[in-house]
Amino acid sequence: MCESKLHGVAGLPDYGTRTDEITIFAGPCSIESQEQFDEVAECVAANGLHWIRGGAYKPRTNPHSFQGLGEEGLKIMKNAADRFGLKTLTEVMDSEHISLVQNYCDGIQIGARNFQNFSLLKNIGIATSKTKTMVLFKRGFAGTIAEWLAATEYLTTNGNDNVILCERGLRTFETATRFTLDISAVPVIHKQSLYPICVDVSHPAGVRDLVPALARTAIAAGADSLMIEVHPDPQSAKSDGPQQLTPAQFTDLMEDLREIAAVFGKKLV
Ligand code: PEP
Ligand code: MN
Repeated sequence: MCESKLHGVAGLPDYGTRTDEITIFAGPCSIESQEQFDEVAECVAANGLHWIRGGAYKPRTNPHSFQGLGEEGLKIMKNAADRFGLKTLTEVMDSEHISLVQNYCDGIQIGARNFQNFSLLKNIGIATSKTKTMVLFKRGFAGTIAEWLAATEYLTTNGNDNVILCERGLRTFETATRFTLDISAVPVIHKQSLYPICVDVSHPAGVRDLVPALARTAIAAGADSLMIEVHPDPQSAKSDGPQQLTPAQFTDLMEDLREIAAVFGKKLV
């Protein structure tokens, strides 16, 4: 069992685990083909970054939508990541896929729709208790911060406290954006816990032209990490096309964000 990283735990400083590095998790929403993934991996590596993301099992609202390539997708991701020297992050939706995904990936994402799937959280905690595989745990779109931190304990009490929390927007009355980004979650998580916080700037935006402003804001608020979706040809994307940046747009944004991060004495990795 791991120690809780909730605020006030004896022996741990309030802001202990965060660093001067901002980890960028970039990559397409879905892994679609080797060519598609290679192009993004090349761009991520060329920007001096370390992680690539991509979905092989997709939580789609409609069962007729593209569901992901499954293990074939994981192979594509691992293949590209090895050639470009990157670490891999993918979503796990089912307990039965945890060990398979661990054969290919360095990080496990738990998506917003599984925020309170406690048996999945528990099984991921148990399965990663020895490896301490990084778990990126997204907030549900109707979840409070208190519920989020409580749910995190399903991972930590079962053996893995290598957790990054990820704010990805809430469902509110506002329809101008896909979700309402709760930027306050960044300082609140910093105040109430020791976990690093990632801000997914693509899913709340819903459209790519809003992504840069949300990314700048997240860094200014103190985010430890950002998630950004990138696709070589967003028009043809099998999921989340409108919000994905092209590699050229992503490279421009990284240039911009590097300067903003430097103001806070941080660097993008
Ligand atoms: C994703 O990261 O592609 C995804 C499905 O995210 P979320 O769980 O935040 O909707
Ligand atoms: Mn997506």
